[in-house]
Amino acid sequence: MIKVGIPRALLYYQYYPMWKTFFERLGAEVVVSPLTNKTILNLGVSRAVADTCLPVKILLGHVISLVGKCDCMFIPTVTSLGRKTYNCSKIIGLPNMTRALIPECPLILDPEIDIEKGRYNLYQNIYKLGRYFTSNPFKIKKAVEEAWESNLAYRSEMSGEEITPIQAIDRICQKNCDPDPSLNSSPLLRIAVIGHPYVLYDEYVSHRLISWLQRMEARVFTPEMVSQGALYAAAKRLVGVPHWAFEADIIGAGGYYLEEAKVDGVINVSVFGCGPDSMMVGFVQHRARELEIPFLPLSLDEHSTEGGLVTRLEAFLDMVKRRERICV
Ligand code: SF4
Repeated sequence: MIKVGIPRALLYYQYYPMWKTFFERLGAEVVVSPLTNKTILNLGVSRAVADTCLPVKILLGHVISLVGKCDCMFIPTVTSLGRKTYNCSKIIGLPNMTRALIPECPLILDPEIDIEKGRYNLYQNIYKLGRYFTSNPFKIKKAVEEAWESNLAYRSEMSGEEITPIQAIDRICQKNCDPDPSLNSSPLLRIAVIGHPYVLYDEYVSHRLISWLQRMEARVFTPEMVSQGALYAAAKRLVGVPHWAFEADIIGAGGYYLEEAKVDGVINVSVFGCGPDSMMVGFVQHRARELEIPFLPLSLDEHSTEGGLVTRLEAFLDMVKRRERICV
């Protein structure tokens, strides 16, 4: 059985259920790297070139941690996921960057996903990927259909049940993931946390920010808890047609939670040196100021500490609570 390595980083948080279904239906075994830890981060940092953002360094560390444990590595070239919306150049260049920086990496499966080039091109690239595992075109077609179904189910589970990708993935992997009933039992504040999924849900990077807020009796809302249609509509109101692949998720979630869900505060978690984030955050921050809703921008890197983060979060929650008391 061919073992396919999937690094637990970047697009993993959005597409893992779909990728897992696809490879398993083709008879492959999926091997996922462990949770991010200091060793993985240091491995990635040791190979990364200057100006690489933290999430890419972490991906490199995860790839190194999978070397020797799989026959091939899945790192797709995800250029465009919608009409005239593009991923950042670091994500597009990931397979080539990985080959150059980690020569010991096994064969990289890097199908190009570029909606701008049309459906036929997309089908051809996925079919070519499937041919690595089987020569049976019907088996590939069925694997694609089932993978897409699981992607839709994953998305509607997160938005329908208001759960995070981690909880949804844990369910798929059949771990006990029911939220701790003590959390959010009588939440005092409604806080939206927006940002890239690979920053929010990698607990090593985010220093367990979401769990910390829940322990502080905040009801936490994230971009995945909103339907794609509502995200897109909110983003369109704030910035027009999105240009970046994550724009609808981040700006759309910010706009939706500020204007429609009327949360008590919004926290944006970005990473130092991210070009798209530096442009996107300003729109949400500006709207929060107009609506007079507290907004906390956090920028993380490998030197951020949990203590520093908690200090800022405590001050933010104090401010939100004070404002609530004044408004009541
Ligand atoms: S969008 Fe930002 S954080 Fe994500 S890979 Fe690109 S530069 Fe890094």
